[in-house]
Order: sequence, then C-alpha cells, then structure tokens
Amino acid sequence: MDLTYTPAQQAFRAEVRGWLEAHVPARPLEHFDASREGFEAHRLWERTLKTGDWGMVTWPKEYGGRGLDLIQWLIFEEEYARAGAPGRVGQNGIFLLGPTLIEFGTEEQKARFLPPMASGEEIWAQAWSEPQAGSDLAGVRSTAVPDGGDYVLSGHKIWSSRAVFADWAFGLFRTPGSERHKGLSLIFFPLDAPGVTVNAIRKINGHVGFAEIFLEEVRVPAFNRLGEEGQGWQICMATAGFERGLMLRSPARYQVAAAALAKLWRDRKDNADRALEAEVVRAFMNAEAYALSIYRTASALIAGARIGPEASTNKIFWSELDIHLHRTALAILGPEAELLTAPGAHDWIDDYIFALGGPIYAGSNEIQRNIIAERMLGLPR
Ligand SMILES: Cc1cc2nc3c(=O)[nH]c(=O)nc-3n(C[C@H](O)[C@H](O)[C@H](O)COP(=O)(O)OP(=O)(O)OC[C@H]3O[C@@H](n4cnc5c(N)ncnc54)[C@H](O)[C@@H]3O)c2cc1C
Repeated sequence: MDLTYTPAQQAFRAEVRGWLEAHVPARPLEHFDASREGFEAHRLWERTLKTGDWGMVTWPKEYGGRGLDLIQWLIFEEEYARAGAPGRVGQNGIFLLGPTLIEFGTEEQKARFLPPMASGEEIWAQAWSEPQAGSDLAGVRSTAVPDGGDYVLSGHKIWSSRAVFADWAFGLFRTPGSERHKGLSLIFFPLDAPGVTVNAIRKINGHVGFAEIFLEEVRVPAFNRLGEEGQGWQICMATAGFERGLMLRSPARYQVAAAALAKLWRDRKDNADRALEAEVVRAFMNAEAYALSIYRTASALIAGARIGPEASTNKIFWSELDIHLHRTALAILGPEAELLTAPGAHDWIDDYIFALGGPIYAGSNEIQRNIIAERMLGLPR
C-alpha cells in the first residue's frame, strides 16, 4: 500500500474541497431523524449534491455516479466530514443497498433504482429485523407469497431507521420452500403501498424517524426481488459486509470527532482530570488507526479482494472507538455536558447517545465476536 496521494488524487481533493466550500449550508440542518422538515431539508441537500454529481462517486456514470475508485471515495468522505456537510439521509440506499444492487441486480433494476437513489429522489430504509429476528436474522417470519407475476408480502418488521419518512424499504422475506437461511428473498416495497403501516418508535433523544412496519397483503411485482428467489441470505450477507467492513462508517467522521476532542481538551484541561489526557491521545490514535485500516481494505478491494469475516473486527473497532471518544469528552465536560444551554457542550451527549447504538445495529458486537471466533480463529461453536 502506497500512502502518498498521486497528483490526480490531490487535484480531486482540491475539486471536492472547492465545491463543498461553495455549497455546504452555512447553518447546520435540523437532524434528518428529528422531523419531516429535517428529513426533507436533507433530501434537498442530496439534490444539491447531485448537481455536482457527488451523490455516490464510486457508482458508474450511467447510474448517477462518477465511476471513481474507493480511494477517491475516501478522499471525498474526508473532505465531506472536514467541511461539516450534512449527514447523508440516503445512507441506507447509497452505502448498503446500492453496492449490493450493483453486484446482484439486473440492468433494468440498476437503471430503475440507482439514479433516484443517488439523487435523493427516493430514500431507502432497511427492513430486515423483526421482533423475533435480530441477531438471529435467519429467524425472520415475514412471508412473500408468489401470485401471478407478483409477490404478496405479510409480516412485521421493526427497528427500521428513517422508515417513517423514507420512500422505499428493502426487506428480507420467506419465500416458498424456506427453512432458516434457505429460501429467504430480498424484496423491495414502497412504504406508501396499500397494506403498509409505519409506526414511529420515539428514541431517547426525541427523534421520531425510527419505525416498526406492518405488512398486510402488500402486492409488489416480482421485478422488485433482488437476485434469485431463495438467494436472500447470501445477498444480505454481502450487504452486511459493506455495512460493517467499509461503507456505513467511513473513518473521516471519527478523525473529525477526534480532532474536536483534542480541541476540547486544550480548551478545558485546566479544569479537568489530567489523567484524561491519555484517553484523548488514545481516541486520536484509534481514529488514525481506523483510517489506515480502511485504506488497507479499500486497496485490497481495488486489487480484486472481497470483504470477508474481517468486516466483523472492523465493526467492533468503530463502534467501540465511538463510545470511548464520546465518553472521554463527557468526562472532560463534567456535569456541563448535560446542560441543554451549554454552548457546544450538549452536542457531545447527543452524539454519545447515538454512539451507544453502535454495538447493537449492523449486527451486535457479541455476534461479531462469535463470527471472529468461528470463521477467523476456527474455534469450536
Ligand atoms: C440505532 C439502531 C438502528 C437500527 N436500524 C435498523 C434498520 O435500519 N433496519 C433493521 O432491519 N434493523 C435495524 N436495527 C436493528 C438491529 O439490527 C438489531 O437490534 C440487532 O441486530 C440486534 O437484534 P435484537 O435487537 O433483536 O437483539 P437480540 O438479537 O434479541 O439480542 C439481545 C442481546 O443478546 C445478544 N445475543 C443474541 N444472540 C447471541 C448469541 N448467539 N451469542 C451471544 N450473544 C447473543 C445480543 O448481542 C444482544 O446483546 C437497528 C438497531 C439500532 C439499535
């Protein structure tokens, strides 16, 4: 791996930086999970990104991308985080479903679904989890019954991020002849289709975009099935690999947070426990180590490798790094962290609450440790 940027990569970085400086909203938008207004403001931002063709730079040009490689994507992400640009409301589509569609979709499906995903016209939610199927995803009970050229979907999905406001969901369903991992299929459904009911689940921070979804005989065309009938498990595992191992959490967000933590320490150290300095340094080094590790993964993928079970080590690392980093900030701030009126301080507790979900979503860390034990270390079940 060569850690120096080529002149072309440096020129690309300058182009991204220039465009973002000219376009990033001067004032932060309301969070996309907080209200319909916040969500729609972020959708508008996605359309602005599209005017510069920045929706998802790695996708082929004909599907709304720029045809760039993963190192350029990382450079884009670094500049994006550095500029303080709005969070990506379409993240489930562009980072999870999109790469999976590119791998498993037909040409017609790619042409239909990728361009509006890249432009924010259609925002996607992930509908995999069910009340009895989270860690044990192969326990899903929702069904997709073939009927003519359609599927009829029934069941109950839960913990679906942004489903209250999103336009489409990609769900995991049992198709005929199924048993555990076999016979599952990945099928798309519009969240406003007849028979779909979306109920908000209010989070501890007051956000209302999280949801449970009830499906009562929802009819969708077979065109909405990704891959073969019964191939759903294999496709979901490919999606989970992108999610845990690369795309969902690019390193720049932690590097920016670590730099903010270092500044917080410099500003507040006279009134803080000196022992916290070591924690600030540790958080900073972890963020840098994560970035280097992702550069290594990206280089390997460019060279033709596929993401394997090491995605699990990655997922544990970013989620634990995030909690440690924010816990350190809260320790520096002391009781002030909990004051709604403290300028700049309250963001840390908001982000800490978000970080607490990291070891749960995208597959809990206990499950990732099981995967590492069995598939990387070869330990007995
Ligand atoms: C913020 C957030 C956003 C989410 N967004 C989405 C989304 O958009 N779409 C979606 O489909 N889902 C989403 N989820 C759901 C998430 O994927 C599940 O919560 C997760 O997979 C765990 O499943 P569960 O909640 O059913 O817990 P359970 O599976 O019931 O697990 C409970 C506890 O037991 C542990 N455990 C379970 N089995 C084992 C085992 N075999 N060995 C060791 N420990 C075990 C788990 O690690 C966990 O600590 C989200 C969750 C959160 C918190």
